[in-house]
Formats: sequence, C-alpha cells, structure tokens
Amino acid sequence: MDMNTVEAMVPTSDPNEFRTGDAWLAGGTVLFSQGSQTLTRLLDLASAGWTPITVRQDGIEFAATCTIAELHALPGDPAVPPAWKAMDLVRPACDSFVASFKIWNLSTMGGNIATSLPAGPVISLCSALDASLEIHAPGGTVRRETVAEFVQGDATNSLQPGELIRSIFIPVHALRARTAFRRLSLTNLGRTGAMVIGRLDEDGLFTLTVSGSTTRPMHLRFGPDEYPTPALLLSRLDETIAPADYHDDIHGRPPWRRAMTRRLGVEVLGELLPSFGPGNER
Ligand SMILES: Cc1cc2nc3c(=O)[nH]c(=O)nc-3n(C[C@H](O)[C@H](O)[C@H](O)COP(=O)(O)OP(=O)(O)OC[C@H]3O[C@@H](n4cnc5c(N)ncnc54)[C@H](O)[C@@H]3O)c2cc1C
Repeated sequence: MDMNTVEAMVPTSDPNEFRTGDAWLAGGTVLFSQGSQTLTRLLDLASAGWTPITVRQDGIEFAATCTIAELHALPGDPAVPPAWKAMDLVRPACDSFVASFKIWNLSTMGGNIATSLPAGPVISLCSALDASLEIHAPGGTVRRETVAEFVQGDATNSLQPGELIRSIFIPVHALRARTAFRRLSLTNLGRTGAMVIGRLDEDGLFTLTVSGSTTRPMHLRFGPDEYPTPALLLSRLDETIAPADYHDDIHGRPPWRRAMTRRLGVEVLGELLPSFGPGNER
C-alpha cells in the first residue's frame, strides 16, 4: 500500500516526541496494509526493546510490543504457575486470528488493542481476564484503563493524540479462574463472528464476556447467589446488548451474530456451571 507522504521513521517510544501527522508503528500489519495519504512520520516502537512478558506474583505484564507468536508460546512456560488455569484461553484466542506468517510473527498485542476491531482476539482475551492498560501521554502523565472500557466501538477507543499503550496487565485472580471458550465464524477460515468466554473465579463470580459479535466487549457478571438458568441468561443478554450493539459487516449480520451469541452463551453456562445449564430450568 502507498505511504508516500511518510518522510521519516523515528525510533522512539516517547509520547513527548509525537506531533500531528505521526503514528506509532508496532508490527505494521494494519498501517502497511491500509496505507495512508496523510501520515508524515512513523514512530517505531520496536526500538524500545521492552521485555515482552513479565510473569509476576500478582499477574502477567505484557509489553504492548509483545507479538502474537510470543503470547502463543507462553502457556507451558515454567514461569507460569500450573494453578493459572485461565492460560487455557491463550492459544484458542491467538488461533482466532487465522493469521498469516506475517501477522503471527509481527503483529503486537498493543497494535491489536489500538486497532480496536470487533474481531480483535487480544481484545477478547484481555477483556475476559479483566486486563488493564498502562497508557502514557505527552507531558508525562500515565493512566490506567481496563481493555473493556478502552474499546468503545468498531475501530474506536479512548486513545488521545500522542497517547501510547505501554503495557497490558492481567491480574492473578482472573488467571486462577476456570474458563470456557466458544468462537464461531461464518466460514471455516473466516474472521470471528461471535466469541463468548466464560470465567468462573475462585470466589464464585461468574463472568460472561461477549465480543466479536458486538462492536465492543461486553460483560455479564453473576455472583454465586444469582447464577442464571439458560432462560435468565438469555434475557440478561438482551438487556445488556442492545440490537445496535451487534456488529454488522460481511463477516456476519446482526441477527445471526445475536443468535450465535445466545447459543454460545448457554453452552458456556452449561460447561462452567453444569447444574445451571441446559436441562436445569427451574
Ligand atoms: C490479512 C489480515 C488479517 C487480519 N485479521 C485480523 C483479525 O482477524 N482480527 C483483528 O483484530 N485484526 C486483524 N488484522 C489487523 C491487524 O493485523 C491486527 O489487528 C494486528 O494485531 C495489529 O497489530 P500491529 O502491531 O501490526 O499494529 P500496527 O499496524 O503497527 O498499528 C495499528 C494501529 O495501532 C496503533 N498502535 C500500534 N501500537 C500502539 C501502541 N502501543 N500504542 C498506541 N497505538 C498503537 C498504530 O499507530 C496504528 O494506528 C488483520 C490484518 C490483515 C492484513
């Protein structure tokens, strides 16, 4: 794709160097596939040399430049405690890219979140696990926001000019949870049309995260005293997700996305809470 207005590639991760006409460059799989007639400089984050993954007692910190290949390789790493059962989600989420060699090895977690597509697998994974972002702004301020709040719609998020996603943090309480994963696409190797991830925390909190079918990630949460039956879950889905929240493009029309979300939601309920799933209407 043409980017013939770009005059310079600057190796920096300092938001104070950002000026109008700049874009942060991570893996480049969006920037170089879409092209641009307006960008004048690319600020190359690869030069930052950030450690891709840091496993800590309180969770896992990923540099924004961590690649999908590096994320995919994490489960089974001896540094990751076996009790962190939610690591089971990592590989199915990465595989949801149905990615080429280039995307797999170059595209980054931060780039996926900043692109904010409904079918962003890193967005789905991170939202389901209550991940938060560390965002650096020009002037030196730093703010934190959950991934689910950060993504506001199709290719829309809370980033302000010059702001940089520095890292993503997944907290230990979510990593210790049991999880269930469902994904559907209209075609065998197609883009995600609906993804539903269930999480059952050690304290009994049940979280259902809907993404892919909706323009932004959406949570439904139930305490141990309010676990839903399938019928209740379906009515909560309709209360939480308005018709306009379902994404509409060539990868799926809203009525199909809604129907698949409902089907996958009930499947996830049945897997994580079998005594409340299908056949247990009361
Ligand atoms: C064939 C093909 C298939 C694809 N399939 C999918 C798919 O199924 N799902 C999906 O979500 N995407 C898909 N993509 C889009 C894209 O490859 C991914 O979203 C990828 O993860 C983007 O990461 P990147 O590091 O390459 O981003 P880049 O191209 O480097 O950057 C993308 C945007 O994010 C900004 N940015 C990057 N890093 C940061 C940061 N740390 N802080 C602030 N802003 C930042 C850039 O300025 C730019 O605006 C596909 C692309 C192609 C070409």
